[in-house]
Amino acid sequence: MTRKKISFPVPSFFYSFDTNAPFVQCTMCNGELQQFSKYFIEKVFKQNRVLNKSEIVYEYAICESCVSSMTSEISNESKVAITQLYEDYSENFLRKLDYLHRTEKYTIDSWIERCSLTGKEVRLCNEYAVNAIIEDGRIVYEHTPIVISDDFVLKIQEVLSKETKDTFNNYRDKITDGSPSVEDLIFSPTPGIY
Ligand SMILES: [Zn+2]
Repeated sequence: MTRKKISFPVPSFFYSFDTNAPFVQCTMCNGELQQFSKYFIEKVFKQNRVLNKSEIVYEYAICESCVSSMTSEISNESKVAITQLYEDYSENFLRKLDYLHRTEKYTIDSWIERCSLTGKEVRLCNEYAVNAIIEDGRIVYEHTPIVISDDFVLKIQEVLSKETKDTFNNYRDKITDGSPSVEDLIFSPTPGIY
């Protein structure tokens, strides 16, 4: 039983860093996002230990149709392994979701303090990713927004097949224009994939 709350407006946290406004185009196909009933956002942060704050490393918005083509490129072996990994951590994940919905904490801060799977606080992560789903210009609080810590991304990496890793790396390079400053970062795919 997953509850769902759709909220307007989209929190500025999920705005494009460059424009400080909601995303307009799909990062992959450049299609107008508003022609899709649903799209996905991922933002990847790095912790600046000196300033003690999170800094954006890269971000993208992706339309439904690009998400399905990405999904189709994941090997079956990797899909099974990812599903199993999420199941292994589902107790923590579901308990958190239950709490957030039961107490109606429909403000973004409550959802992004900790890794949704491991419970690790984001301030303790060297890197972490935040994913959200936007539906008809509103933010969806359901099983997302979701936070994936560096620890959990490493676990995902461990179970992926070589082909799927290569696919993800290609997508990451496309999103970041192959910028060398992010080549060491691990790409964690959007929740739409699972
Ligand atoms: Zn697209």
